[in-house]
Amino acid sequence: MSEYDDAGADPADRVVAFLNTLDVEDGIDQLATTESFATWSGRRQSDADVAAARQLRDHLRARAAGEPPAGGPLRVGVDVVLDDGATLAGTDVVAEVAAAAARLAIEGRLERVKICPADDCRWAFYDRSKNRSRQWCSMEVCGNRAKVRTHRERSTEGVRG
Ligand SMILES: [Zn+2]
Repeated sequence: MSEYDDAGADPADRVVAFLNTLDVEDGIDQLATTESFATWSGRRQSDADVAAARQLRDHLRARAAGEPPAGGPLRVGVDVVLDDGATLAGTDVVAEVAAAAARLAIEGRLERVKICPADDCRWAFYDRSKNRSRQWCSMEVCGNRAKVRTHRERSTEGVRG
């Protein structure tokens, strides 16, 4: 089973897993090649698929980081089923992720998908806090590092003169 298939039933898990195909800390990009994308997704991929995947990821990562989304509208193949509500099903991996993101947006949950602001981290996560106030991927790791840094900067200000 690929990491992509592991991503659970909540569309948020699928979107977050896709955003984390870029691991800034370890310098690993699962969308670097057609082969690495195929391995990650567990499906055969073409060069065009990888290009579309990178475009979608750039777009979603920018949005999650609170930056203006990169690129124009996303053109993907989506099957729409109108039942009790509406079900969006992508016709390939990229379209599935785009459909999952669209579902989050419709449910008002896409802004809960965030990117850790630590420059050496940039990990994507889903903010499950009640008031959507979570900022760091992990308070223990990146939150504390930032706090220690701020503290150190403050306490050395007087010394430097
Ligand atoms: Zn982090």
